[in-house]
Amino acid sequence: MSAETVLIVEDNEKSMKLFRDVLEVKGYRTLEATTGARAVELATRHLPDVVLMDVQLPDVDGVEALRRIRTDSRTAFLPVVAVTAQAMDGDRERFLQAGFDAYLAKPVDIAELLDVVKTARTAWLSSAAPD
Ligand code: MN
Repeated sequence: MSAETVLIVEDNEKSMKLFRDVLEVKGYRTLEATTGARAVELATRHLPDVVLMDVQLPDVDGVEALRRIRTDSRTAFLPVVAVTAQAMDGDRERFLQAGFDAYLAKPVDIAELLDVVKTARTAWLSSAAPD
């Protein structure tokens, strides 16, 4: 079985490096986008197993990038995890309602990150089973 691919969308260089290092140590392949527009492009081209989406991005933000991913039939069902520094009450619900499959608050806990990536993938696989 080939390695699972995670598309990391993150405009902060230090966070990008951290996520990449942690995921690659665990055997994931990684793709990187630092803008929302690039994230949509790479998601469509590579159909990654999971997308880790920073919400605060300089151009197209994570919510809008997610909307574009969800409205394209090729990428509509990709598992997408929101990563955000907005850790206020109600945020988790707001992001899940926007269509994200899971939510991670910054600063990201590494064990939680790995767990959420694994869970998002598994949940997606079971929900995508053909009828
Ligand atoms: Mn950001």
